[in-house]
Amino acid sequence: MLRRFSLCCTMLAFTLAAAAQDFPTRAVTMMVPYAAGGPTDTVARVLAQAMTKPLGQTVVVENRPSAGGILAPQVVKNAKPDGYTILIHHIGMATIPTLYRNAGFDPLTDFEFIGLVNEVPMTIIGKPALPAGNLKELIAYIKANKDRVSYANAGVGAASHLCGMLFMSAIQTDVLTVPYKGTGPAMNDLVGGQVDFMCDQTTSTTGQIKGGKVKVYGVTSKKRVASLPDVPTLEEQGLLGAEIAVWHGLYAPKGTPKAVIDKLAAAMQQALKDPAVQQKFADLGAVSYPPDMQTPQALRHHLKSEIDKWSPIIKKAGVYAD
Ligand code: ASP
Repeated sequence: MLRRFSLCCTMLAFTLAAAAQDFPTRAVTMMVPYAAGGPTDTVARVLAQAMTKPLGQTVVVENRPSAGGILAPQVVKNAKPDGYTILIHHIGMATIPTLYRNAGFDPLTDFEFIGLVNEVPMTIIGKPALPAGNLKELIAYIKANKDRVSYANAGVGAASHLCGMLFMSAIQTDVLTVPYKGTGPAMNDLVGGQVDFMCDQTTSTTGQIKGGKVKVYGVTSKKRVASLPDVPTLEEQGLLGAEIAVWHGLYAPKGTPKAVIDKLAAAMQQALKDPAVQQKFADLGAVSYPPDMQTPQALRHHLKSEIDKWSPIIKKAGVYAD
């Protein structure tokens, strides 16, 4: 009995190892935790297209949106660990474990790490009809209308939620928040005037700002963003404590063979070197991590340090979801 069991395990390991050597023989699916048309989706689509060449197989983007972005990690955690289902996620991977009492996954133990992708600043933007012309006026407007003003976000755990939390704490005023399954749909409502303001990544807001579709009140980075040189930082305008950068990483289900992870990491690194990708990211204010951080070890290390950084901030703010 024991002999048959060990023979079967040996054969399974052998089959997995053989499959890992051939990987990939068909399309790879990259799961996105937010709605199509939003900033995470944009980063995913640029990366997926560029990874297709080094992998020799198509990388298909599949959106599994949910408020807060907790569904896609659950799906990938439970997927077959063969490299054909991978996850792109952002800073939310570091904040969800503290924000949710029951997220359904543990970011540090339920995944294999592929690498860090890029970092993207956020922008505070408002609906076109908002009377405030600059950050100072926006803050005064929010304080004067705090019972009527609405803030759109992508649910508890989203980057837009974190940014809103920091912003409201910095201006010491809470307003009504309206959650969406991604800031793509939230942006549509902002442009249409159904919600008043939001904070979203430049990978989504740059086009709307340049096209004059929304009002912009500042960037959340320490320095101005090269693609939006006229937009001042929040800090420059005297607002401290709302600095935030949204980082992205690639993950695979726990147990995915190392040979497969190595191939996915190499394809991601190759994609980030692609001049078309570099140009696209630069146009959208995104900064790729240096090559020595585009690795499984660096992603794990960064995730852990971000969990340690955000957990006391969230606990202090007392925000929790079930
Ligand atoms: N920007 C969103 C967030 O707040 C997510 C998205 O739609 O990409 O996390």
